[in-house]
Amino acid sequence: MPFDEIRGHSRQVRILKSMLASGQLPHAFLFTGIEGIGKRTVATGFVKALNCLTLPDDFCGQCLQCSKIDKQVHPDVMIVEPEKNVLKIEQMRALQQEIIYKPLEGKKKAVIIDAAEKMNAQAANCLLKTLEEPPEDTVLVLIAHSVSDMLPTVLSRCQRLHFSPLCDDDISSLLARQGMDAQQTGRLLPLAQGSLQRAIMFAGCDFVSRREKIAERLGQGAGAALKLADDLARDDEVLPMALEFLESWYRDLLVLLEGASDARLYNADLADDLAHAAAGATRDSVIEKIKKLRRLQSGAAFNPDMQLGLEAVLLY
Ligand SMILES: [Zn+2]
Repeated sequence: MPFDEIRGHSRQVRILKSMLASGQLPHAFLFTGIEGIGKRTVATGFVKALNCLTLPDDFCGQCLQCSKIDKQVHPDVMIVEPEKNVLKIEQMRALQQEIIYKPLEGKKKAVIIDAAEKMNAQAANCLLKTLEEPPEDTVLVLIAHSVSDMLPTVLSRCQRLHFSPLCDDDISSLLARQGMDAQQTGRLLPLAQGSLQRAIMFAGCDFVSRREKIAERLGQGAGAALKLADDLARDDEVLPMALEFLESWYRDLLVLLEGASDARLYNADLADDLAHAAAGATRDSVIEKIKKLRRLQSGAAFNPDMQLGLEAVLLY
């Protein structure tokens, strides 16, 4: 699969290909953008293109180098990922040990650091030494969903490429490649918000149907609200998605209360339910619910007060 077959990100691919063609490669890249849009696919493609035996400034996906990178058994390519949600100093030391040596088989050594925003301070300071004095024949690609927690000194030493969310056509095409039909895809697109990973996550737990049921129960009075809070608080798999949906629901109520058109709604397919809910809501109460939801979302994992918190959102 050459660069041309990667959906979206044509500008970023063009930049990478022209760098490959000129041979003027920075020692370190930083790919940024929301989760699930293909940053790692492009990073892996780029690392293959550095080493591909068949295509110049591109990758074939078939040759020995490309297939070893795909199988993650290439001796010159390292992929570093968080362990228990953290990138630790030991992992940075291990990669530094690896890149001391010249490439064994490939033309370049390459390191992909996925979720680089999960580096703790020690790990980041350790990596900084490599970024300050990068070894020859080595390219690092850091991938980050957000840079707000990253050291400015790390950021300033990387060539940054920002990746935008995917368009609906790209997501539809990628979901079709995975065998999803057009009807299911159409229902997932509004939830995906440009992220293939989100579309797949929502599909995996049939959240499209669950969301419609949640919306129905939102308009059925206090008893239904208490039961809904109880059900959602117990369901670890669906809870993060449900919290996000509820926030988009109340955001839509605000849009309706401000008198904007249905076209501006996230949940346009639920416009009837929303109009019904908006009839009994006030702007201040909806804003208060959104604030409460955001507090719940920030402490969602293992929050013993989740049920109480949800009741406070859904009841009042
Ligand atoms: Zn190849």
